[in-house]
Amino acid sequence: MDIKSLTLDELKDEFKACGLPPFRAVQVYQWMHQKLAADFEEMTNLSKDMRQSLKNTYEYTCLKKVQMQESALDGTRKYLSALSDGNLVESVFMRYKHGNSVCISSQVGCKMGCRFCASTLDGWIRNLLPSEMLEQIYAIMRDTGERVSNVVVMGTGEPLDNYENFVRFVKLLTNEDGLHISQRNITVSTCGLVPQIRRLAQEKLQITLALSLHATTDEKRKALMPIANTYTLKEVLEACGYYYKQTGRRVTFEYSLVGGVNDTKEDAEELIAIAAKYAGHVNLIPVNPIKERDFKRGSRQEILAFKNKLEKNGINVTIRREMGRDIDGACGQLRRRVLHNDAE
Ligand code: SAH
Repeated sequence: MDIKSLTLDELKDEFKACGLPPFRAVQVYQWMHQKLAADFEEMTNLSKDMRQSLKNTYEYTCLKKVQMQESALDGTRKYLSALSDGNLVESVFMRYKHGNSVCISSQVGCKMGCRFCASTLDGWIRNLLPSEMLEQIYAIMRDTGERVSNVVVMGTGEPLDNYENFVRFVKLLTNEDGLHISQRNITVSTCGLVPQIRRLAQEKLQITLALSLHATTDEKRKALMPIANTYTLKEVLEACGYYYKQTGRRVTFEYSLVGGVNDTKEDAEELIAIAAKYAGHVNLIPVNPIKERDFKRGSRQEILAFKNKLEKNGINVTIRREMGRDIDGACGQLRRRVLHNDAE
């Protein structure tokens, strides 16, 4: 059993069944999720015998650092780590004025097939466990010695395609006996799985939902994102409206600007209408070209003009600040490069 994926209550029940008092569960939980112990041996207020018996009974998930690249431009760090079965995941550490942020992966690979995204090129391998999502943050905190205040689930994978593990991860990450990160400082990005967005709305969490919108009509969205064949734009937007209504949290619309594809005047006008109707914040992401696809980024001027048009119409809009452009910053690029170099 994977001990780091258990909630404190579950751990108390586990320990009770072995005749251990609840305070032992609290101690072990805090070692794992607050003091970020790398193994049972570090849990020095437990007896040697107890540490040994924990080791015999439970799986203790930890990641192994395979590679770390640090940006010379902004200090952003990209980590490539190995899971216990040898699969590789990417996570990113970013320093902002308001605190440190970590971007984590939710799956090994991805099955969503978005055209501009490197994470999906090699397909989907498996879901990550809650402990494997947490460990991406813990390992970075151990490595940098710095605190993390914001978490974005925007790395490789579709988090809502790994729904149960994702929600459990949020509960563990925000628990007061763990890192106790505020729900408001957690953002989950989805390509738009309608039933899961509605289910998430009912969890009444205070996390931010970001929808990968990327186009303003079904036809254009289908050309970029296969998921648009399953759910219409109308269905996805209504699910976002429902999320806002249930949680009081404004949705963010992510819009990767692809030169000559979705950055016309008409696109801007349609985007304004959508953002206004659903009271959403727009986050523009100048497309990060990957070598496997022929998508181009517009000029700085074109991107600014698009943004200004939205702003003039009263839309709350930001251009995603680019971090770590010199270190394979786009989703899935580093993992893919390492996988393919190894194979060659
Ligand atoms: N599966 C989730 C998380 C994906 S990554 C989702 O689909 O939302 C976070 C964002 O980066 C998504 O909006 C994704 O569409 C976008 N993205 C991925 N690759 C990109 C690239 N090369 N250039 C610009 N945006 C990209």
